[in-house]
Amino acid sequence: MIQDIFPHKLNITYKINEPKDDSFILIFKDNKILLIRNEDEINLPTFREFNDDINIRYAFSIDEKQFFLLDVDEPLDFVSVMEDEGYTFFDVAKLRKVKHSWLRYGATMGSHFYDWYNTSRFCGCCGKKLMHSKKERMLYCECGNLIYPKICPAIIAGVIDGDKILITKYGDNIRTRYALVAGYTEIGETIEETVKREVMEEVGVKVKNIRYYKSQPWAFSDTLLFGFFCDLDGSNELNINTEELSYGGWFSRSELKDMNIKDDGVSLTYDMMSKFMDGKV
Ligand SMILES: [Zn+2]
Repeated sequence: MIQDIFPHKLNITYKINEPKDDSFILIFKDNKILLIRNEDEINLPTFREFNDDINIRYAFSIDEKQFFLLDVDEPLDFVSVMEDEGYTFFDVAKLRKVKHSWLRYGATMGSHFYDWYNTSRFCGCCGKKLMHSKKERMLYCECGNLIYPKICPAIIAGVIDGDKILITKYGDNIRTRYALVAGYTEIGETIEETVKREVMEEVGVKVKNIRYYKSQPWAFSDTLLFGFFCDLDGSNELNINTEELSYGGWFSRSELKDMNIKDDGVSLTYDMMSKFMDGKV
């Protein structure tokens, strides 16, 4: 999956670090990141390419390599020079197809950081400019409002009925691949209750024997995904919610093979589908 960068290791501990010459600088504009692209490989700008006077903020390290984020209030005037040198703004959503898993993951995580800082400049209570805590990854306002990183819990449910699993497709035109039932946790419910509710809301069946499988940080939607397998409880007759899904149906392992479903090395959904297909769940 996208977060599996072994033997490289992520260090997310909050620190206020000084950049080194080879530290990466993550620069975003809208949903795009500044990088040099060479077919399916990418490279990120490093601190040595800038004057010392840019405002940057330490975000995380992978192994000894530090990643800093350009401050969201910093003007992007200097970018045109970098574009002349080969840099380009690259769609964050397309990062998942890039090689070099650790660099891909660093850029992807950077987009999550950027989304949070960029949409958390001012206090939602009083409108004043938010300040950065020196002790932890948190923004605060003089009125007492504290803002922590936006990480939305959500579930992916592999609903199993004997030799078959429930496969869906989203109703929008953006996410056209096969999917599993998925959805965000509501206020006041446990993650297991989210599984039951989402399956009922999306396809109209009951589930039991809910068992945790794996989790996945999914920066593209500021989400932490929790993958569960569960068993059908009662009737297998589907009642598809057409406002959310364009399709839902039961597929056997051999049918999934015929559909050429395989682990894409990126998403928890395809990891789960392939595990089921291979008879490992
Ligand atoms: Zn405030």
